[in-house]
Amino acid sequence: MARRKKIYEGKAKILYEGPEPGTIVQYFKDDATAFNNKKKATLEGKGVLNNRISEFVMVNLGRMGVPTHFIRRLNMREQLCREVEIIPVEVICRNVAAGSICQRLGIEEGEPLPRSIVEFCYKNDALGDPLVAEEHVTAFSWATTQELDDIISLTLRINDFLSGMFAAVGIRLVDFKLEFGRLYEGDMVRTVLADEISPDSCRLWDIETNEKLDKDRFRRDLGNVTEAYAEVARRLGIMRETQRAANDESDL
Ligand code: 5GP
Repeated sequence: MARRKKIYEGKAKILYEGPEPGTIVQYFKDDATAFNNKKKATLEGKGVLNNRISEFVMVNLGRMGVPTHFIRRLNMREQLCREVEIIPVEVICRNVAAGSICQRLGIEEGEPLPRSIVEFCYKNDALGDPLVAEEHVTAFSWATTQELDDIISLTLRINDFLSGMFAAVGIRLVDFKLEFGRLYEGDMVRTVLADEISPDSCRLWDIETNEKLDKDRFRRDLGNVTEAYAEVARRLGIMRETQRAANDESDL
């Protein structure tokens, strides 16, 4: 098959031109990075799992009316998406204290937060994606006030839905990172969910034991990283097909 034109290569994904104008193909790599690229590894099978988990999440969010860039999964590592203009802000939503908020505010990991908190980081690797205020987002025209309102209300809806979805399979949604994009449709522009939602971009803890089932296993050298991602897929009921796809891939 002829290779498509590469548009962009990120740390965990490659974007290719899609088969039709206005589409892209997201390819999920096995590469993992942390601490602003200082720690790197290849985790065999991670890309297959994230492709499948992100598909599951995007499809279910779409069903409840959250607009997303996702069109369909193409194969075990690729999905077809609408091409969007990425808003250069990472949106983080937290339910339980973990990660950078603990260091910043001196809160104990695992402390439930008084309410869900939405934070913004400026997407800039050279600066280490710094935390910014809503004021910065609009003042520097990274997003309009209307877009920011849409982003916050979509993020809280996504949080409610995903918290329930994961709780139903014994997983606590501690926090997660979202990216949004502008989808141009004729004269109209819509704010849609983009990128991926997977154990790379969420903190997911077993509800009973607090065992980490996410990228913190890689960040903190806890081992069994892909096994934890596979456990998330298994609990969501998508493991059998994913395992078959991974086996097919190793047979190639
Ligand atoms: P923290 O700010 O505590 O490091 O991260 C909060 C949440 O956002 C975590 O679930 C983390 O995995 C996610 N997150 C933050 N920055 C990034 C990023 O650059 N890439 C990905 N994939 N996830 C991120």
